[in-house]
Amino acid sequence: MEQETNPTRDVFLPFRADLRGQSPYGAPQLDVPVRLNVNENPYSPSSDLCEAISASVTAAIKDLNRYPDRDFSKLRCDLSDYLAEESGVRIAPDLIWAANGSNEIMMHILQAFAGPQRVVASFLPSYSMYPEYTRDSFSTWVAGTRKPDFSLDFDEIRRVLDVHHPSVVFLASPNNPTGTALSEAELREILELTRESGPLASDGATRDNAVTRDTDVCVTDDDGVPARRTATIVVVDEAYAEFRREGVPSALELLDRYEHLIVTRTMSKAFGAAGLRLGYMAAAKSIIEQIMLVRLPYHLSAITQAAASAALTNRSALMEQVAQIRADRDSLACSLQEMGFEIAPSDANFVFFGKIANRHQTWQDLLNEGVLIREVGPDGWLRVSVGTPAEKERFLSALHKAYVDHM
Ligand SMILES: *Cc1c(COP(=O)(O)O)cnc(C)c1O
Repeated sequence: MEQETNPTRDVFLPFRADLRGQSPYGAPQLDVPVRLNVNENPYSPSSDLCEAISASVTAAIKDLNRYPDRDFSKLRCDLSDYLAEESGVRIAPDLIWAANGSNEIMMHILQAFAGPQRVVASFLPSYSMYPEYTRDSFSTWVAGTRKPDFSLDFDEIRRVLDVHHPSVVFLASPNNPTGTALSEAELREILELTRESGPLASDGATRDNAVTRDTDVCVTDDDGVPARRTATIVVVDEAYAEFRREGVPSALELLDRYEHLIVTRTMSKAFGAAGLRLGYMAAAKSIIEQIMLVRLPYHLSAITQAAASAALTNRSALMEQVAQIRADRDSLACSLQEMGFEIAPSDANFVFFGKIANRHQTWQDLLNEGVLIREVGPDGWLRVSVGTPAEKERFLSALHKAYVDHM
């Protein structure tokens, strides 16, 4: 009996070499009094909203023995109504797709349009998850740069498109961690530049996923080699769109003119429902159809669908709160400027501020005062989410103590 082997002793697990040494996504989830690090809505749902969600979920539970509506028709109608009210653009429900957070939306997009031998690009600083989705879809990551003021550099965009021919480009607007938004002119310019900057049709791309049309015939050069390039899909990540300032457009307004545009949104930020895990996107029918090929069956639980629909149809108080958070954001930005910091103009529910000589020490000093913010993006900058007025006061006084008094 002493000879009995430990069943795990002598095996080698087939760990993927490309994951060696990597660590899982990790905004620290620390239990401190003031958490201003992941851009959540600081207010819990109202009791009216809680009741509406409970009633909707209770009704859904009665059918829990059945698989959920795979195509979440009611939720898509509710999202369509919401977008029409929020942005003034009416998107048909069948041009809307939803998943468990916009994280899953991004994975769906890359599973459908990226993959081995294909390139996914973005321009940094931007959302730190884009390279992870790229890796997880076995695609190749290319990071371009932005100008020092975090705006897009079109020479750099042209270079990345010409050299790498990405099949997907991610552009967060308002951007995370900077808070800066794209103008309509910038959006249009990118959408024009990307009409034929994707992989060659001969690399296995087809122009249409479903039916073959006459227009599918590839343009060929003299050698009969397909010469035409596909478009680069432009994903405008509008996770923070509800916080944009007056006059800043949503890319939703351009959807009917650009078939290679995808606009993503989430209920995690303005909607105060990060715990729900509901992200969604709007795009052309052909894109939605392609994504339906790669999603896992029944990916959106009946509970999620019921809770999300109830939150959407009981949104009025929430939308007033967003207006308040926007005003609080502007006042937080002012306070930081008055303290002598540089700030990136923010259309989001956070402010990116600098330049800080030793940002890690400042971050740690704030944490020692019970205030957790985010150390992210270029060195010398920190990101703080808009909290309640009381949280803002604690943050500002901790920052004074940690940094300004030492300047
Ligand atoms: C927070 C955030 C998201 C939201 O992700 P969810 O999966 O919907 O919670 C998406 N994009 C950006 C840029 C974000 O900052």
